[in-house]
Amino acid sequence: MVTTRDVLEIEIFSALLDAIDRGEYPAGGRLVETEIALRYGVSRTPVRLALKRLETIGGAVRDARNTLIVAALDYDQLGELYDLMEVLEGTAARLAARRASPAEIDVLYEIVDRDADLIQNNVDESLIIDSDKRFHRQLHKASHNRYLLGMLNQMHPALAPLARVSLTAPKRSPQSVCEHSDLLDQIKARDEDAAEHAARKHIRNSYIRRLRTRSHALAENAETLAAELVPTCAHR
Ligand SMILES: [Zn+2]
Repeated sequence: MVTTRDVLEIEIFSALLDAIDRGEYPAGGRLVETEIALRYGVSRTPVRLALKRLETIGGAVRDARNTLIVAALDYDQLGELYDLMEVLEGTAARLAARRASPAEIDVLYEIVDRDADLIQNNVDESLIIDSDKRFHRQLHKASHNRYLLGMLNQMHPALAPLARVSLTAPKRSPQSVCEHSDLLDQIKARDEDAAEHAARKHIRNSYIRRLRTRSHALAENAETLAAELVPTCAHR
């Protein structure tokens, strides 16, 4: 039987993921039970359970003082995550090229066009980041494969600490929108190979951007990868 407490726990868990996603709880930031309970206006029990759940999936870890903090991904984890995302997003794009309806493709173009307007109007970067997520979610749906959707949803908790930082590289947004536009052109053309290739490249570029934001110790590696990072289009 599903109790109110279960529902609350899941709601708090999901709210925490979104908050981490929005950077409200940055990697390494403390997750304090009482503060979270106050913030969401609930008792401590569902918060404790939600935090436990977050810890179980690796979204939170304990520091040397046994304080629960938002997990930061180490270098290897980051690479492993992006390797898998490249495969999943590439497959989603391939299937979308095969199965997306014209209406779904139109919706995706609307997102790309709106993003181009946002960038031209120099809006807050966080709006563009939210829009990026919308684009990918819509693309996932357009793949019409519930198992793939399930896998992508499962990746969500692992990706939460990534979202904010990955788009903070200067002038990243125009290129990202450009890549979305390219990808979409391939889906519209029903070219499955090209769509998968474009999606993989987009994810790989995100990875490179991510590496750039890391410490100087990684700079050399990032430079090597960055050599492959070439802007791919002028937006329509
Ligand atoms: Zn994207």
